[in-house]
Amino acid sequence: MDIQRVETYMKRVAESETKTFTPVGDKLKVGLDLGTAYIVMVVLDEENNPIACEKQAADVLRDGVVVDYLGALNIVKALKAKLEQRIGKELVNCAIAMPAGTDDSVKTHTYVAEGAELEVTAVLDEPSAANAIYQISDGVIVDIGGGTTGLALLKDGKVVEIADEPTGGTHLTLVLSGNYHIPFAEAEAIKQDYSRHREILPILKPVIEKMATIVKKNIVSKNVDTIYLCGGTCCLTGMEKIIEKETGIPTIKPADPFLVTPTGIAMNC
Ligand code: ATP
Repeated sequence: MDIQRVETYMKRVAESETKTFTPVGDKLKVGLDLGTAYIVMVVLDEENNPIACEKQAADVLRDGVVVDYLGALNIVKALKAKLEQRIGKELVNCAIAMPAGTDDSVKTHTYVAEGAELEVTAVLDEPSAANAIYQISDGVIVDIGGGTTGLALLKDGKVVEIADEPTGGTHLTLVLSGNYHIPFAEAEAIKQDYSRHREILPILKPVIEKMATIVKKNIVSKNVDTIYLCGGTCCLTGMEKIIEKETGIPTIKPADPFLVTPTGIAMNC
């Protein structure tokens, strides 16, 4: 993997949250990522140049399954409308992804996309979507999202083993909420404020170490030489160092790990 290439590209994707770029060609590729904590839509042009991206916090999925169809639909419709207004073009197709091992819920994801008038042209598993960005042949991709720490082991570019355990960003917010005696929403805002990451990292360290333990126990004896991080929780400044120290394995994270999977999904549209 060329980390510099990934850094430059992901910085451009992050820029497309606030700035709309002019697409090359007519085709727009959309990645729709329905997550436990966030719904994200990334738009690329036919050469995979980032065009625009929108996200919204959401509480409409549990364990990878849509549990609030109308809630999910309304968010996707609103994100689609915002993107269409920004780009000045209708979005027609999208790709979606499922957490690895949850293929049964593909229908609920598809219904949400179709309800928002997006035709689903591709269904991926999340680690393979993330690897459209990383392009690694062997190693482990660790996705730390809202609810879980997920791992996917890759051999010759294919996902050969997965694991998913329930410790994610929500648990970190709960720890902050308890520590500062403040409501969840306030703790969530502090956690997402980069200027407070230095202050909160020591408070969150035990939970991050637990995430690292999940990674370690699932890759022991698997001959893994590098850990590639993605998922919103990995935005936390310095968490890659804790994971590297706990596992003893070099750990890489790009500038904006939040957008890796949704962008990889869009590439496959
Ligand atoms: P899951 O993968 O469990 O289904 P998801 O796909 O919704 O959840 P992501 O969108 O990858 O998960 O990440 C959401 C998590 O990222 C939330 O817990 C959120 O608090 C956290 N997060 C987002 N931005 C930041 C930030 N700047 N600093 C720390 N954590 C962040």
